[in-house]
Amino acid sequence: MADLADKAEALEQRVRDEALARSREQLPHGASRSNCMHCGNPIPSARRHALPGVERCAPCQQLLERQERRSSW
Ligand SMILES: [Zn+2]
Repeated sequence: MADLADKAEALEQRVRDEALARSREQLPHGASRSNCMHCGNPIPSARRHALPGVERCAPCQQLLERQERRSSW
């Protein structure tokens, strides 16, 4: 029955690899960013939990949104 056990193990490994690949796709930078891409200040973990993949701290995000709103007028 060793053959069957090997197959089961290989299948399990493949499922794990696929899950890992999917989780990487959701985070293109490989890991969740812990510092703001704009000012470099650390992003609070509560914010990162609330907004997975968030790349800016709250003040920078607000600034960006204000600028976008202004430029669209
Ligand atoms: Zn910032």
